[in-house]
Amino acid sequence: MPKIHNFSAGPGILPRQAMEAGAKACLEFNGKGLSLLEMSHRGKDFIAVMDQAVSLVKELLGVPAGYSVVYLQGGASLQFAMVPYNLLDEGESAAYLDTGTWANKAIKEAKIFGNVKVVASSKDANYNFIPKGYEIPKDAKYFHVTSNNTIFGTQMQHFPESPVPVVADMSSDIFSRPVDVSKFGLIYAGAQKNMGIAGTTLVIVRDDLLGKVKRKIPSMLDYKIHIAEGSMYNTPPVFAVYMAMETLKWVKQMGGVSAMQKRAEEKAQRLYKEIDENPLFKGTTAKEDRSRMNVTFVMEKPELEEAFGKEALAAGLSGLPGHRSVGGFRASIYNALELESIDALVSVMRDFAKKNA
Ligand SMILES: *Cc1c(COP(=O)(O)O)cnc(C)c1O
Repeated sequence: MPKIHNFSAGPGILPRQAMEAGAKACLEFNGKGLSLLEMSHRGKDFIAVMDQAVSLVKELLGVPAGYSVVYLQGGASLQFAMVPYNLLDEGESAAYLDTGTWANKAIKEAKIFGNVKVVASSKDANYNFIPKGYEIPKDAKYFHVTSNNTIFGTQMQHFPESPVPVVADMSSDIFSRPVDVSKFGLIYAGAQKNMGIAGTTLVIVRDDLLGKVKRKIPSMLDYKIHIAEGSMYNTPPVFAVYMAMETLKWVKQMGGVSAMQKRAEEKAQRLYKEIDENPLFKGTTAKEDRSRMNVTFVMEKPELEEAFGKEALAAGLSGLPGHRSVGGFRASIYNALELESIDALVSVMRDFAKKNA
């Protein structure tokens, strides 16, 4: 069997060293003769894991004072509802940027709790670009964006100046580049794309935004309670938090988010260059909005797609078929993917072009 190159969109590739640490921790943790999975989350061994998982987020992203960092459950999808539940009262409005499937799901949930103003949408172009030059209403409680559109392969290269707090779904590009957290009211990310495994969701929130809505909030949906309890209001997903900690340790060892950004730029540049130069392939998105995490492309002759898909698979390139809403292919090139995997894909694309010239 050839080496497998994992281009899965999510759950996505993880650093090998995090996987090895996780495998070991399942069997025996910290010399205690117990698995991490069978010890109390209130014991000092796990508390140290949670503390480090939180402090690495603060350190890597430079989270300023006045913000809290928590690990929750329910995926990014629960955040679609939890954000408006905690920040948007009935009769108030929130602004949303419609850049794709995930943005739409966020909009749908927000409408349950208040008024939604969609400031701009690229829906008519099948979300192949990020709208710009829109106005954010000053009376909105917050402005919600999706920093990277995992399905459509677009990414916000800049965040707009906003008169109201910006809430960002960063599920598929968190820790892939520096972000100025002070420019955001709330950031959330399901862990399984770029910072760990399914089962936990990172939330970074500006404390002064909380506690303002009039509605009663069930404890499990209340950010304030999770913050007060240090992400341990109930039993946390111990293994998912552990894997986030190990993944973030790796990010730090590699040089932090600036190093991740350089790595992402180099990988993306190499792959987009081939897509642009190879006569058989073409990108699906506006060049200035191309994602450095999810690279979407199709074939000039769609009838060749099946054959290319087969060759890619035979060469050990896993997870390449595109999402049904775009078709073609999608190479997800998250932090842990090595440059050699890009080279493997590029070489299969070149061979295929030679054979089918
Ligand atoms: C995958 C994804 C989600 C959904 O995440 P879940 O953890 O499965 O709920 C939301 N937003 C973006 C940008 C994603 O990539």
